[in-house]
Amino acid sequence: MCGIVGYAGTGNAAGEILAGLRRLEYRGYDSAGMALWNAETRRLDVVKSVGKIDSLEKRLKKELPATRSAYAMGIGHTRWATHGAPTPANAHPHVSDNGAFAVVHNGIIENYQTLKKRLAADGFSFKSETDSEVIAHLIQQCYEDDLTRAVSAALKNIKGTYGIVVISNLHPGVIVAARKGSPLAVGICRDKTIIASDISAIVQHTDRVIFLEDNDILTASANDIEVMSLNNIPISREMTHIDWDIEQIEKNGYKHFMLKEIYGQPEAIADATRGRLLEDEGSSKLDGMQMSAGEMASVDRVLILGCGTSLYSGMIGKYFFEDFADIPTEVQQSAEFRYRNPIIGDKTCVIALSQSGETADTLAAVREAMRKGATVLSICNVVGSTIARETGRGVYLHAGPEVGVASTKAFTCQLAVLAMMALRFGRTHRLSLQRGEEIVQSIRRLPEYIRAVLEQKNAIRKIAEKYAQFKNAFFIGRGYMYPAALEGALKLKEISYVHAEGYHAAELKHGPIALLGSDVPVVGLVPKIPGYDKTLSNLQESKARKSPVIAIATEGDRHIMEHCDDAIFIPECPEFISPTCAVVAEQLLAYYVAEKLGCEIDQPRNLAKSVTVE
Ligand code: GLU
Repeated sequence: MCGIVGYAGTGNAAGEILAGLRRLEYRGYDSAGMALWNAETRRLDVVKSVGKIDSLEKRLKKELPATRSAYAMGIGHTRWATHGAPTPANAHPHVSDNGAFAVVHNGIIENYQTLKKRLAADGFSFKSETDSEVIAHLIQQCYEDDLTRAVSAALKNIKGTYGIVVISNLHPGVIVAARKGSPLAVGICRDKTIIASDISAIVQHTDRVIFLEDNDILTASANDIEVMSLNNIPISREMTHIDWDIEQIEKNGYKHFMLKEIYGQPEAIADATRGRLLEDEGSSKLDGMQMSAGEMASVDRVLILGCGTSLYSGMIGKYFFEDFADIPTEVQQSAEFRYRNPIIGDKTCVIALSQSGETADTLAAVREAMRKGATVLSICNVVGSTIARETGRGVYLHAGPEVGVASTKAFTCQLAVLAMMALRFGRTHRLSLQRGEEIVQSIRRLPEYIRAVLEQKNAIRKIAEKYAQFKNAFFIGRGYMYPAALEGALKLKEISYVHAEGYHAAELKHGPIALLGSDVPVVGLVPKIPGYDKTLSNLQESKARKSPVIAIATEGDRHIMEHCDDAIFIPECPEFISPTCAVVAEQLLAYYVAEKLGCEIDQPRNLAKSVTVE
C-alpha cells in the first residue's frame, strides 16, 4: 500500500526520488525514508522521518545538505504501517547489519517472526519492529558477489507478499527489484531507470513502462534492464504505453485532488463512454470483454466482486444486470468470496471491480474464480494493473488517474461501465432494441446530469457547514438508492471522520432507529423513483424522533420540504441514472463537511489509496 521509488541515473537522485514519492504520497503516508548511494564516501546514506514527504524533505536538507549532487542512485518509500508503529526506526529503507544493503518493501512478510529468530541466532541485530527488516539481513546473509542472486536467494526464504527495491554500496549504479503480490513498474528512459510501485511516479519521465509480474526479479542500471525469474532464467516482459500525462495528475488550481476529481466527473464519464455506445443497435461496444454474443447469451448468473467503494458500485451494477439483462446477479465482498469456497457454475460470469487493479482481496478472489473455471472480466482504472493483466479481459474505466484517497470519479465511471456491460448482456438476452436505445441515450446524457448536480455546489456547501458539527449521521435509501446511501456514508466517514452509517431505509426501524435524536441527522435519498413514498415515510419517522433530515430529492419536488429540514436537488433523470447523481451530491456534501472540519481531505488518516494487503 506504500509508495516505492527507485532511481538509477546521472542526475540528482534525491530530488527525483522525492518528486516521485510526492506523487505516491496518497498511497500511504505515515512515515517516509530514502537511502542514497554516496559517490564520495562510497557508502549508503539513509534519512527517515515520521509524517509526510515535507518532513522527509526537511530532514534531507538538514542531514545531507551540500552533497545532493553526489547521489546518482537511491531508493525511497512512503510507509503505510502494518507491523510496528510509524516511527523513524520502523520507516523504510531498512539496512542490513553490515550497512551494505538497503531495501524498501511493500507488503507483508508472513513468516518474519521465524526468520527474525533465526537471523538473531545467527548474530544479526534488529533495529525496527517491522516485518520488512528481515529482508535486508537475509540479503546480507545470502550475498556472495552477485546482488541479484543474493536477493533471489533471500526471497526464497520468504512467505507472504512483497514489492521490494534493493541497492548496495558494493554495486554502485545497480538496482534490484522483485515482486510477489505487490505492484512494481519500471519506466524506460534514455539515461535513467525509475522503478515505482505506481505509474504516477513514472509518467513525468516516460510513457513507456514494463510491469513486473509475480516472481520476477529485475536488475537495472541507468541504461539497462534485465528481468529474470527467481531461478535466474531470463524473461521478456512486454512494454506498455501509458497515455496519462502529468497535467492529469496535478491539482490544476483545485484546493484538493478530491475536489478536482469530483469536478472532473463529466469529462471522466465522457472518456469512459467514448466510442463505446452503439446508438443504432441500442447496445455498447466493449471489445475488451472478448465475448461473443453467443457466449454472453449463455451466461445465466453474474457475480460481482469488489471491496469498499467498488463493492457499492457493484451493488448498483446488480440492479443494472437484473433490470437490463434479466440475469440473476450476486455481489460479494472479495475477501468473503475468496475464503468461502464459493459456488461457481460454468455459465457464471464474474466481474471484478478495482480502481487500482491491485486490491489484494479482489486479486485473490479473481484467481480463485479463474481456478474454478469462471469467465472473469475486470473493470479497472489503472492500465496494465495486475487484475487487468491476469483476467486478460475486461473494460478499462479510462477515468484518468484518481489521486484523492476517497474514490469519486472512479465510482461514477464504474457505474457507467457496469451500465454499458449490462446493456450489452441485455441485448443478448431479452432487452428490446427500443429500450436499449433509451438506455444508450440516458448514458450519453450522464455528463450533463452530473453538471447539474455540480451546479448545486453552493447550496450543498451551506448545508454541509450547517451540519458539520454533528458527530453521527445516517444515510438511508431503497432500491437504487440503497447502495448510494452506503456510498454516501462511506464518503463522509472516510474524509471527515464523522461516524456515518448507510442503511436500507426499511431497516431503520429494525434497530438503528433507537439511535435517532436531535443530535443524529438523517440524510434521506428520495429522488422520484420507485420507493419514493416509502422513504418519505421513513423520513417522517426520523423527524418524529427529532432527527434533523436532509433530503436528496428531484429538482422540482415541491412537497419535499414538508418532509425535511434541508434539501439537495438532483436533476430529474431515469431511475438507473439517479444513483450517479445522488452520489455526486453526497461527494460534495462529504467534501464540504471535511473542509469545514479542517480535515486532510486527500490523505485521510489510516487510509491508503490502493489496498494491496489483505
Ligand atoms: N509491512 C511493512 C511495514 O509495516 C511494509 C508496509 C508498507 O507497505 O508500507 O513496514
